[in-house]
Amino acid sequence: DAGLGSWPRRRAAMSPDAVALIFAGRRTTYAELHERTSRLAAALRAAGIRDGDRVAYLGPNHPSFVETMFATWMLGAIFVPLNFRLTPPEIDYQLRHSGAVALISAAPHDADLGIRVAVADLETFAAGREPVEATPAGLDDVALILYTSGTTGHPKGAMLTHGNLLWNCYNLLVCVDVAGDEMTLVSAPLFHVAALNQCLLPTFLKGGTSVIMPGWDVDGCFDAIAEHRITWMFGVSQMFAGLVRSPRWPDADLTSVRCLMTGGAPVPEALIRAYQERGLAFCQGYGMTETAPGATFLEARESRAHIGSAGLPVFFTEVRVTRPDLTPADPGEPGEVLVRGPNVTPGYWNDPAATAAALTGDGWFRSGDLAIVDEAGHFRIVDRTKDMYISGGENVYPAEVEAAIFEHPGVAEAAVVGVPDATWGEVGRAFVVPAPGASLTPGDIPEFLTGRLARYKIPVYVDVVDDLPRTGSGKVRKGPLRTRLLPAPA
Ligand code: AMP
Ligand code: MG
Repeated sequence: DAGLGSWPRRRAAMSPDAVALIFAGRRTTYAELHERTSRLAAALRAAGIRDGDRVAYLGPNHPSFVETMFATWMLGAIFVPLNFRLTPPEIDYQLRHSGAVALISAAPHDADLGIRVAVADLETFAAGREPVEATPAGLDDVALILYTSGTTGHPKGAMLTHGNLLWNCYNLLVCVDVAGDEMTLVSAPLFHVAALNQCLLPTFLKGGTSVIMPGWDVDGCFDAIAEHRITWMFGVSQMFAGLVRSPRWPDADLTSVRCLMTGGAPVPEALIRAYQERGLAFCQGYGMTETAPGATFLEARESRAHIGSAGLPVFFTEVRVTRPDLTPADPGEPGEVLVRGPNVTPGYWNDPAATAAALTGDGWFRSGDLAIVDEAGHFRIVDRTKDMYISGGENVYPAEVEAAIFEHPGVAEAAVVGVPDATWGEVGRAFVVPAPGASLTPGDIPEFLTGRLARYKIPVYVDVVDDLPRTGSGKVRKGPLRTRLLPAPA
């Protein structure tokens, strides 16, 4: 059984008494986790879940997430973790599109979604079950579907196989000495592959401990580091910036930390310096959901000499910078980043068009990011070709926001761009042209979008304008919109 559903059993055999998870003061050993996972798998099997079925999970970070994930994999089924920041209509789209038959969530859902097994309380659901044997899975079997939005406006379900997840763990373990005594702080949301597969799963593989935070908060992070003597943590730059801004930063005891890693969004050099000045190993990685997620990594010992660089391709993976015709660019010449290797997605769930657009015939994944490689092969991420911006570590696709704005009857045209923001990295700015005769104020737009789009996607700035700059062929020119002077927040 090559599947990750076998990991609790293997870990329970090798290190039964080691602590796998700590959550709100509760410790779960590998033996307990294996037992709980096997009972939950039995309950799911009794409820009719079979291999290939999609099991969705909706909720903040919690040991239940981990147990449901492994139980799903034990049945050869596919785990679909959902972003709990999304609104009910956004979540319903993903449930419907993935064809989920089970939903583990405390929140209610739309009755006609095709969910056969709805579980609000896992304890009761699994009570009294006898542990089951796993259905073996192969490395090419799909383990996860993770929804990411797209340039067409509809979210796409990136598939990751058991092999994709495993090879990313191997890639990480080559770069970072994740150890059996690791105390990993899982502070980012587990429905993102970085928290799941750069933190929790590699730690699990080595028999270390994952300390799970229910959600991000600066004080909770400092408390957890002090209480558990945290050794390893991943965060997006806004999280690490929040620690530096805190009044606790100068006096916080960070002596237990062996390595900190950031990625998932641009990383300001001043932030890296703030950590280096404290003598901390602070590394930058670059990656994406579709590469499970690591593509390049800058090792701690290189992070002073190559500050701001996202490092070298990870060990088992090829990464190159290419020209628009997909031939390799020269050193110093900006181009699109392409990734190929055993950690790269086989494609998007039920979306052959998106899959064909993202993967070349010979297996290269097109990232839509622009980078420069220097003579020594180090990557520097400089921009994006895809129309996307990142707000607090969450990707926002303007096409999706624009489509939601268009539903407002008073809007004739709309364009959304990302603009720099000191707290979130970037936030949205919408330009809207009112429909003939309609009266529209900037405040109407956020009000209209509330409940339709997750908060982080709602533009902070709204400009009501007479027209939008367009190219000869009628496409909105976003460049000039990005550089317009900012108004006061709506
Ligand atoms: P996601 O699929 O949500 O993980 O988002 C992946 C995207 O985040 C990439 O395609 C990049 O645009 C961006 N990203 C990830 N890591 C970095 C980094 N180190 N520097 C700049 N952008 C990054
Ligand atoms: Mg991200």
